[in-house]
Amino acid sequence: MIINCPHCGPRDVSEFTYLGDASVKRPTSEKAARKSWENLVYNRDNPLGKHRELWHHAFACRLTMEVVRNTKTHEITSVKGRGPYFEETSK
Ligand SMILES: [Zn+2]
Repeated sequence: MIINCPHCGPRDVSEFTYLGDASVKRPTSEKAARKSWENLVYNRDNPLGKHRELWHHAFACRLTMEVVRNTKTHEITSVKGRGPYFEETSK
């Protein structure tokens, strides 16, 4: 599988680390209900089809990006950087 890093260009997936589901929301405070934290840490969906994922280009630019990938075909339809820099420039 090839991921098109917004900084480095197309690279083999072996250079990246999977960080998890990009749609998962963190609880807003440490005092949030225990169930919210348990859901963040332990519960994951296993969707078939398009899925928003977080990937980290660990062996190159160290950019964290949001990837939309089809979990059945591994086709990637979107890659965008994620973090303060990208959120500021996308406005
Ligand atoms: Zn990169």
